Amino acid sequence: MADKKTIKIGDVVTVKEFSDLADLPVTSVISELMKNGILATINETIDFETASIIGDYLDIAVEHKEEAAPKIHTKTEVSTKNLVPRPPVVTIMGHVDHGKTTLLDNIRRAHVAAGESGGITQHITAYQVTLDNTRNKEIKNKTITFIDTPGHAAFSAMREHGTAITDIIVLIVAANDGVMPQTVEVIEQARINNVPIIVAINKVDLPDADIMKVKQQLTEYGLVAEDWGGKTIMVEISAKTGKGVDDLLEMILLQAEIMDLKANPDSPAVGIVIEAKMQKGKGSLALVLIENGTLRKGEPVAIGSVYGKIRTLEDFSGNTIESAGPSTPIKISGLKSLPDFGDRLAAFANEKEAKENATKAFSAKPQIHIATAHRIKQSEEGQEYVEFTELKLVIKCDVKGSLEAVKKSIGEITSENYGIKIISEGVGPISESDVTLAKSTKSQVLGFRATVFGAAKRIAEKEGVIIKTFPVIYEMIDYIKEELSNLLPAEVIEEQLGSGKVLAIFRDDKKGFVAGGSVESGKISANDEIKFFQDKNEKYRTKILSLRREKSEVKECESGSECGFSLPAGANIAVGDTFITFKTEHRKRVVE
Ligand code: GDP
Repeated sequence: MADKKTIKIGDVVTVKEFSDLADLPVTSVISELMKNGILATINETIDFETASIIGDYLDIAVEHKEEAAPKIHTKTEVSTKNLVPRPPVVTIMGHVDHGKTTLLDNIRRAHVAAGESGGITQHITAYQVTLDNTRNKEIKNKTITFIDTPGHAAFSAMREHGTAITDIIVLIVAANDGVMPQTVEVIEQARINNVPIIVAINKVDLPDADIMKVKQQLTEYGLVAEDWGGKTIMVEISAKTGKGVDDLLEMILLQAEIMDLKANPDSPAVGIVIEAKMQKGKGSLALVLIENGTLRKGEPVAIGSVYGKIRTLEDFSGNTIESAGPSTPIKISGLKSLPDFGDRLAAFANEKEAKENATKAFSAKPQIHIATAHRIKQSEEGQEYVEFTELKLVIKCDVKGSLEAVKKSIGEITSENYGIKIISEGVGPISESDVTLAKSTKSQVLGFRATVFGAAKRIAEKEGVIIKTFPVIYEMIDYIKEELSNLLPAEVIEEQLGSGKVLAIFRDDKKGFVAGGSVESGKISANDEIKFFQDKNEKYRTKILSLRREKSEVKECESGSECGFSLPAGANIAVGDTFITFKTEHRKRVVE
């Protein structure tokens, strides 16, 4: 196969420039971009990441051109002065069918005017409610920001992410069903991320609701209700009838009071992307939760590798706004390409700084690690040593069931010479910590139906860690076999060409070595590899430099003839040794 064409680009490139560099028609570049969900015109710019992705499809290697080293902001500095209370950010999580959607709808219907949200049936990923009908003065007119995590399929992928951005998790447990696997996963994730849980015991309107049983089950996971002497707030609700829902909202706000959540609206905005999509006519739209500071229209921002100027700001109801403060979910436009889910937003004083920040992670060219360890393993006999090749993997799957299936298939790929070592396994999206672990252990990160966080992708590129995801198991297994095959040392195959015996040593000095011998089978040729044996034990191997019969130099000597051959100086052979001439072939080993 011909070598790939390589082009070098900076942090951004226009579609036209890219096409020129790649020597491809603009239309094919635009159509490739479209296939990847990006609508760009000839004069629009695409970032380096996008260019590399479409380059892959177009069979063009895209390399990053070093630019002047930017001033790196690792974190937008947040002043600790001027702190004011901010709304809590809340995610409702729980086992499928336990009533998450019904509860979110109920809250929205009761507290967000239908006209504002453009009809209550419309799905909103994030919204805010203000509690105006409470008698509790402390929390009256206070706001809660709800972030909705998508449906069941994406549950495990979102779970890790959801807990990372929320202040409080409302764990919904159906009273007629009790604690289920996803309930437990939420509890575990919340604990890992140190996020407090408020339990909503739902469906209490049902005749088979067993509230006691739910509380009992939850104690086994360390969640003990306040009325049982514990610390966990538990509220009995019916998301369907609305009973107890306002109590739940009050409890959320009281919990937020205790947590003393604060932010500084005067600082430059920082936030996180919770959704991003291309919209016809509007370009790339990102739903961002402002975590601190205030974001204003016209401000330059960097979101992961993407940068731009905020063209429009919309609140969750679709109203155009001029600025958004802490804990506010907003939709922004003005970005040239799509940021990733989980990417961080930071606002800057000028576009140059925003650009520098967007690109800082990309100036380092990836170095691909060979994810393996060749090690010498003692064979069963205890004496012979065989070389052992190991492919190390960090595995992530969408759900537990698929992880088991993947492990079972991987377990079947092993032999005395090679094997797979699973460094870490888990359920959920591929995160930064997976990449860091893979780097330190020289592993590859493989995902089966797992999503990849934007930050993980970027670190992997920077550090040269391989991340691959697969929609079907056999593709993953084929990939693993292929990688393992590439790592295995080639099989060395020797083909015997001739054999004979050493009859005399004519010369043995610093300048060279010449011996005479008889050819007993096959033929021997100049440049053949040759090995010598004493009592059938191999003692020396080298290469024939030239052959002589009588006084003239020849190319080969047939069986039954005698000839002289010269070898490199210092050859360790003696009269009486036997020899074999051969050629070697290095054959790639294939893991079946
Ligand atoms: P999700 O999968 O957690 O989002 O669950 P849904 O909100 O879709 O609810 C699953 C089913 O339970 C639906 O048929 C709801 O109507 C029903 N449901 C949710 N909450 C309640 C409740 O409080 N009482 C009763 N009786 N049914 C409920």
